[in-house]
Amino acid sequence: MHNVVVIGGGYGGLRAIEHLCKNENVEITLIDKNTYHYMQTESYGYIAGRFDITDVALDLEHWCKGFSKSVKFICTEVQSIDFEHSAVVCENDTIHYDELIIAAGARTNFFSFIEGLGEHSFGVKSLERAFHLRQAFERRIDQKLSQDKESRESHVNIVVGGAGLSGVEISAEMAYTLEKYKNVLGIHANDIRITLVDASETILPGLDPYLIEKSEKRLEELGVKVIKSAFIDKVAADKIYFKEGGSIDYDFMIFTGGIKAVALIEKINTPKNNAGQLIVDKKLRIGDYSNVYAIGDCIELRDNSGTLLPPTAQMAEKTAAFVAKEIKNKIEGKNTAEDGFHASMDGLFVALGGNYAAGILFDKIKVSGIMAFLLKKIISRGYRLGLEVKVNAGYKKRGQRV
Ligand SMILES: Cc1cc2nc3c(=O)[nH]c(=O)nc-3n(C[C@H](O)[C@H](O)[C@H](O)COP(=O)(O)OP(=O)(O)OC[C@H]3O[C@@H](n4cnc5c(N)ncnc54)[C@H](O)[C@@H]3O)c2cc1C
Repeated sequence: MHNVVVIGGGYGGLRAIEHLCKNENVEITLIDKNTYHYMQTESYGYIAGRFDITDVALDLEHWCKGFSKSVKFICTEVQSIDFEHSAVVCENDTIHYDELIIAAGARTNFFSFIEGLGEHSFGVKSLERAFHLRQAFERRIDQKLSQDKESRESHVNIVVGGAGLSGVEISAEMAYTLEKYKNVLGIHANDIRITLVDASETILPGLDPYLIEKSEKRLEELGVKVIKSAFIDKVAADKIYFKEGGSIDYDFMIFTGGIKAVALIEKINTPKNNAGQLIVDKKLRIGDYSNVYAIGDCIELRDNSGTLLPPTAQMAEKTAAFVAKEIKNKIEGKNTAEDGFHASMDGLFVALGGNYAAGILFDKIKVSGIMAFLLKKIISRGYRLGLEVKVNAGYKKRGQRV
């Protein structure tokens, strides 16, 4: 039996296990510091109050139990990896592996050179942070319904720093929610303003011009103010200062402007890029270790032309499928893929508030509006349903009713 250990129950980790499970000769252990799988791609809807916690989180223990073969789940934070002895070091345990898959994701980079950023802004890369953000957003809406005239009439400025995929999706969904509140509750939603700020000359830097154009138009329709080429220099308790001069007042700030390696990856002594992501070889292995693979947000990925790819769930899943196949071939004594992993995006959808999205499929087909929204919904529902089937099966195995 080959003992495969997977660190991280995110998009990459779960997809790797699904593939590995098809192999008779492997024993799998999943380790995650949380009890749940966090569906970050849906977090924009959770923050804006459209989705529930059950739409963005799924129990990992039940999911593991849902497989017909044994998949062991250990809920603990991995402290370090002892590569020499092929062991994962956790707080109360040391777990040995034959093959290791590191799928530990990334966290928000509250750049330390931007004074006050980490102290005064919210991130969305963890469920806990997204929850706090949701509460802050709801509190501001609640103020607008308050009996206290001053609270009711006060202006609220929400600033989103970073106009990448997450920043754009969150701004659009919050703006859409405000519009709904305006209609239904008659609150002065115009008094809650959303400003999206980015240091680049464009929103969604690196993405297709079609997605950029559609997103800009939609944000404008929803009343989101977009400020481009604005580099945040300092964040004080109620003001954001820009390098180019000038400032804006804010009540609460969300930062989605960059990612960096999680604590575990920081401790690994193999080559990394500026964001601390691991540099992998063509078979997605790190350093000189032939049995240690890394996938998803914790690695740097470039396409065939050398262009850096944005970290996405799609790439986490693709790298997972590749590594699972590599391990399977290795165990069965077959040749592994000589030319290695080729990173390319199949397309991407951007949720733009309510039942509106823009997307590109297979690099060619461009869609926007409700059609794009429905396609995006089908993809995310399909993903979720696949997980739910396992979670329900695992839950039943414990002898409890669903
Ligand atoms: C708002 C938002 C919208 C997005 N929209 C899209 C989209 O539309 N399409 C798309 O493709 N991508 C999207 N993404 C990006 C996508 O969510 C990420 O690229 C994806 O989550 C990466 O998957 P992963 O498996 O590498 O890491 P993650 O999903 O982050 O999982 C990492 C796991 O590792 C665990 N972990 C970390 N450190 C340790 C440790 N030391 N010990 C044990 N466990 C540990 C964590 O608890 C976590 O469960 C979006 C992201 C955000 C925030």
